[in-house]
Amino acid sequence: MDSIRIRCPKCNWEPDGKAYWQCSCGHVWDTFSTGGRCPACQKVWEDTKCPGHVGGCDKWSPHLDWYENLDDIVDEIRQETVMPVNIPLSKAKLTKLLVFSVVFLAAGVWMVVANPQVDNPVFDNVVVRIVVEYGAMIMGLFGIYFFARKLMDKGPGLIIDAQGIYNNTSAFRDGFIPWCEISEIDERSVGASLASRQHFVTIVKTGGSRIHISTNGLETNHEDLLKLMKSYYEKYKQPA
Ligand SMILES: [Zn+2]
Ligand SMILES: [Zn+2]
Repeated sequence: MDSIRIRCPKCNWEPDGKAYWQCSCGHVWDTFSTGGRCPACQKVWEDTKCPGHVGGCDKWSPHLDWYENLDDIVDEIRQETVMPVNIPLSKAKLTKLLVFSVVFLAAGVWMVVANPQVDNPVFDNVVVRIVVEYGAMIMGLFGIYFFARKLMDKGPGLIIDAQGIYNNTSAFRDGFIPWCEISEIDERSVGASLASRQHFVTIVKTGGSRIHISTNGLETNHEDLLKLMKSYYEKYKQPA
């Protein structure tokens, strides 16, 4: 943090630590050692006069105006104390997804083993059948592996702070995405019907690549996450 420079806002005269100010009670002291409060009678002087006899301009200014960059310093302190938002992985949601994956795997295995006869021209096609059966098994296996691993993950799901986004929701760790590498945050919906529609919060990186964050395993929903990310992004992205 920058140190605070004190100078007269009208003529730039800088106090030198000596006692140039006299209170209405008669006490003489260095007003900048006490923030404008008289140590004898406790009166607070909201305005401070620039002492002309030692090189100043004899004009009055609000005491706080003497502190240069006070706004910037306060702003800096505010930025530093922004609390990171920590969105945990949802054990309940992950457990549900793990159960779904087991069902998927079991269904795939059952279709291969039991070879159920379905009176349906599409499903009777051998290629369709293999795709469905093995698709279900692969999705199930991948799901079991992924969701079981996430269930055991003691780490956070997603952290949003002043620096960027730490993403621990994907199978492959995207890890940390700084705000300066993001060009847009949007949402994307994938799915044929309302029932199967999947919502993602999509991060478009400056290089053009996209990261889709699913809230399926998080203690939040995609509307809230999108709002939160956008507000942080607006605040912390580098000015263009
Ligand atoms: Zn006084
Ligand atoms: Zn002055």
